[in-house]
Amino acid sequence: SVPAAILSALSAAARGGVLFKGGAALERLAAVKAFAFDKTGTLTTGRAEVTGVHATDAAQFLALLAGLEANSEHPIADAIRREVTARGLAAAPVSEIVALPSEGITGRDAAGALWAGNARLAARMGADLPMIDGASDGAETLIWLGRGPEVLGAVTVADRPRTSSRDALVQLRAQGMRVALMTGDRRSVADRIGAELGFTADEIHAELLPEDKVRLVAELGNRGHIAFVGDGVNDAAALARADVGIAMGAAGSEVALQAADVALLSDEMAQLAAAQRLARRTARIIR
Ligand code: ADP
Ligand code: MG
Repeated sequence: SVPAAILSALSAAARGGVLFKGGAALERLAAVKAFAFDKTGTLTTGRAEVTGVHATDAAQFLALLAGLEANSEHPIADAIRREVTARGLAAAPVSEIVALPSEGITGRDAAGALWAGNARLAARMGADLPMIDGASDGAETLIWLGRGPEVLGAVTVADRPRTSSRDALVQLRAQGMRVALMTGDRRSVADRIGAELGFTADEIHAELLPEDKVRLVAELGNRGHIAFVGDGVNDAAALARADVGIAMGAAGSEVALQAADVALLSDEMAQLAAAQRLARRTARIIR
């Protein structure tokens, strides 16, 4: 049977919006020595905004892009759909949609195959990316849309850190935790958001594929238990690999929730630090 101290800790954590799938996860959290965080939708709000549209025919370009992103649960897709709605446009019909986690998305319309995503996906499609003034070297996420090697345009997308992310990191460091940021986003964006949140350069890992996050979690976990906090389909493998996988419960993806041991239902990231203090006190009581 589960010790009363664990039951009472589980319910106290739940009141703070931290839901454990069981007592074992609470006990593992007490032994965690490092916390790794996904960026988009985890340290940031996940409510991204389109900040710039770069295309010769913006309306046609946005309609195609929204068609590709029509069913994606990625925060970038959500930003694009809101922008298209705000401009009174409708998404173009796109079929055979395939999501490529941490890279983008592909599909097909009447004129042929389409893709949208980051520079790595563009390179794989044989596209030569033009320079965009103020965006190519900037600190915003750039999403390219293309048809084969032809580039149709790009949007810039920006997202803000959650107000409590910084607080959470300060508390976790004070609890002796090592911390890391692990993102699929481009280096310039990762460095800017990372610096804003107080990560040192060596704690910031950018341009990662899902399997890169798994590898880094395993490496950081060599020196003690590790927790990984993430929200996306691209985080599922890292959440499963970590000693404690923590999924963003409110806006996170179903796949991430299933792979995780803990769901964070609150927007207050600092609740995770509080949950770890609680887990440690509980571990001392039951030993
Ligand atoms: P994070 O690890 O920070 O949550 P992701 O790994 O989900 O970020 O995404 C990494 C990058 O892959 C994004 O910055 C974007 O360039 C591209 N990407 C991922 N999903 C999509 C999508 N649905 N549409 C366009 N681009 C995408
Ligand atoms: Mg994410």
